[in-house]
Amino acid sequence: MRPLFRLFATIFLSFSLAGVALVSTGHADAGFDRWVQSFWPTAKAAGISRGVFEAAFRGVTPDPEVLQKANYQPEFSIPTWQYVVTRVSEKRVLAGRDMIQRYKPLLDQIERRYGVDRHIVVAIWGMESTYGDILDDPTVVKSVVRSLATLAYADKRRAKFGRQQLVAALKILQRGDIGLAGLTGSWAGAMGHTQFIPTTYEAYAVDFDGDGRRDIWNSIPDALASTANYLHKAGWVTGSTWGYEVALPARFDMRLSKDGKSRRIREWMNLGVARVAGRSFPRSGDKAVLVAPAGRDGPAFLMLRNHYVIKRYNNSTAYSLAVGHLADRLMGAGDFVHPWPNGERPLTQAEAEELQRHLAEAGYYDGEIDGKLGPASRDAIRAYQSGRGMTADGFGGIRLLETLRSG
Ligand code: CA
Repeated sequence: MRPLFRLFATIFLSFSLAGVALVSTGHADAGFDRWVQSFWPTAKAAGISRGVFEAAFRGVTPDPEVLQKANYQPEFSIPTWQYVVTRVSEKRVLAGRDMIQRYKPLLDQIERRYGVDRHIVVAIWGMESTYGDILDDPTVVKSVVRSLATLAYADKRRAKFGRQQLVAALKILQRGDIGLAGLTGSWAGAMGHTQFIPTTYEAYAVDFDGDGRRDIWNSIPDALASTANYLHKAGWVTGSTWGYEVALPARFDMRLSKDGKSRRIREWMNLGVARVAGRSFPRSGDKAVLVAPAGRDGPAFLMLRNHYVIKRYNNSTAYSLAVGHLADRLMGAGDFVHPWPNGERPLTQAEAEELQRHLAEAGYYDGEIDGKLGPASRDAIRAYQSGRGMTADGFGGIRLLETLRSG
């Protein structure tokens, strides 16, 4: 281990130990036990039986890791284009195309029932849980009751959220959709293939395979149909897409990409906006909003109604753009026609592995060379960037790889 890396490791270790000591390791947390008792009237009023309540909280202690994650504030807000480039990786595109093939009969049924394009459903599955891959990761598969109780008990900003979600989680247990051991999720209570929080689950999860239980953790039919049902209920327009990449004329008033105003496609066309690659708009009467995440230097988009439906799933333009773009890629489309700023682009699998090898050789990375730029790789990238006086955004794109190649 090189000295710099060791320094980071030491800091991280002492931080972790401090975190554990502060929150205490748990089995005798009288404050928490009192909190659990004080929560009982709320649960009871919501119709939870004493038996379900006691079983759910038996042996439960606060989870220090939940508070650590809740208090972690990323130093940099990632630009939209960087988010899209990172999330719509070659790996995610290829795995998604496999899923479209593998689950074709199921996706036929779901599309017929809910009227939501299969590529969007599979893209959300890919974004939320990497097609279920994260459900094997012990750090994301925590006890939902424990995580939410920790937030309700010890995180001031999320106490109300924690209580509301906990009530919904206890209802899931009481109905028997899933057993206590199977009720797992992220530190914030996002559960299963679809990463629904319990109240979203209550409102939108469906039993599509007909076994009487809404199982978004183990049943892919239930999970994908639940996603489609959510989009359907949020107003998905059947037969329409999320939006189009467009080309702007040379002297275009960029303020029109910032006012968020909806105009008919034909009005945009009158302003000189065209679809890229000589394609035409299928319906000139559709209403659309112009979005240019990187300004004049990057791709621009006309966003249709369904873009806002996807935002109901996760209220972020970057998220919705990534889902829409991933869906297009699953249909066989290529990258955007206009490059992102500075010629930045995502790495292929081989390039991502090369990036990890360079970081390992420079002493910043000692994880697996698997091309997966997860938290350990991003930490290594940040450490490398800091050491070079670069913006430590943890982003592994082609520009960083070029810098590492040139030593
Ligand atoms: Ca089921």
